[in-house]
Amino acid sequence: MPDTLASSAKTRLRFAPSPTGYLHVGGARTALFNWLYARKFGGEFLLRIEDTDKARSTEESTRAIFEGLQWLGLNWDDGVVYQGANLARHQADARKLLEIGAAYRCFCTAAELEERRREAEARKEAFKYDRRCDRLPSEEIERRVAAGMPYVIRFRVPDGTTEWVDMVHERIAFPNKDIDDFVILRSDATPIYNLAVVSDDIAMGINIVMRGDDHISNTPKQILLYRALGAPLPTFAHLPMIHGLDGKKLSKRHGATAVGDYQHYGLLPGAMLNFLALLGWSPGGDREIMTVPEMIELFSVDGLQKKAAIFDPKKLEWMNGQHLSMVPLEELEPRVTPAIVTARLATEEALVERRDWYLRLLDLLRVRSRTIDDIVRQAGPYFLEDIDYDPAAVAKNWKDPAEAALLLRATREALATVRDWTTEDLEAALRSLAESRGVTAGNVFQPLRVALTGLTVSPGIFEMLIQMGRELSVKRIDKALAVLAA
Ligand code: GLU
Repeated sequence: MPDTLASSAKTRLRFAPSPTGYLHVGGARTALFNWLYARKFGGEFLLRIEDTDKARSTEESTRAIFEGLQWLGLNWDDGVVYQGANLARHQADARKLLEIGAAYRCFCTAAELEERRREAEARKEAFKYDRRCDRLPSEEIERRVAAGMPYVIRFRVPDGTTEWVDMVHERIAFPNKDIDDFVILRSDATPIYNLAVVSDDIAMGINIVMRGDDHISNTPKQILLYRALGAPLPTFAHLPMIHGLDGKKLSKRHGATAVGDYQHYGLLPGAMLNFLALLGWSPGGDREIMTVPEMIELFSVDGLQKKAAIFDPKKLEWMNGQHLSMVPLEELEPRVTPAIVTARLATEEALVERRDWYLRLLDLLRVRSRTIDDIVRQAGPYFLEDIDYDPAAVAKNWKDPAEAALLLRATREALATVRDWTTEDLEAALRSLAESRGVTAGNVFQPLRVALTGLTVSPGIFEMLIQMGRELSVKRIDKALAVLAA
């Protein structure tokens, strides 16, 4: 019988997070790769919440996982599987292993094991369970069980070598002598992680197990369990770890690592996905910016990488800027509107009323934005009655207040002569003003830019004037003149 599932079986992958914290970027990356594989090759992507650790699992974390996956659009097939609900099967699998002689009862207490561990350490030896309970006569075992003595079930690791061909790392081999007879069922009859995972993966028909590199050392134990349970092996794929810019494993020290943080920080899910996709995979060449359909199209096993991936928040921000400019405005609108409303720049109704104007504004502002927050910050001057002047903008472009006021007054007059508030007419008026005063066009534009927005970063001056309209533009200049005179 072949050791792996027949290739005709439908590909089934899963994401199996433990709900003991928020969905972090590493988990989201693993979910994405499983999802991409399923979507690319017509497989199924399943979600299993590994909530067997009752003390550490929380409903809040489970909700955060759902919310994060939903925000990213990583939709799963079938209903969610809760590992804790499969306890009876985990126990049955452990008993089966006991019955067929692949596992044995161990009555050694935690204190005894600790004592032996210490002794081994004193001898400078690696501690390994010495199998003493495996050598107990059957009558003694029966006597102890009848007396209600607590026991765990240990898997008896056979001799030999356990190896597999990893989708990412190719051949990986572990000598079995280095693997302890590991516990599969605790004395309170709850399963140990490796048993629960294998039992569930078999029951769910998972034939590709794709997860982080940190699970490589679990894989030989899991392979031994598959074999003992008489189940075909899945293909394993171990994805590289994610490191911070300092080369250390990504952690809270490196800043935000929860997907939810990025969601609330104003990132586009498409940009986050694009960024995550490049953490351990490359589509080849210099290609970096991809939409989700393009990622699915380009996804391949060949592009999976072994070396640790680097999480660079600056790159994520840059990538978000690229996606902001790329997404259809209709898609951008519902993501920006709540932020505009929260910032009290406008009500949703007011935006609906001026929808065309609003979409043009988004189109204008997104070019110089890396986040939705950047768009909101730049949007202020188009909505607010009064604006604040960024001290940096003032220092740079209103360096000489008297000169700035002079130019602004002349600008106000020049704008009054403009009949059609169009780029051509505005440009003609402002350029001829510059000429008549013997200054550069920039000398005219810069103070005006500060007057209109108070910001250093803003769109082209004519686009801005058109977007604001004549009335608001003139009002802003008047206000600036008052400020400069004060
Ligand atoms: N629940 C495990 C974790 O969160 C994943 C198990 C697996 O993918 O096999 O790391």
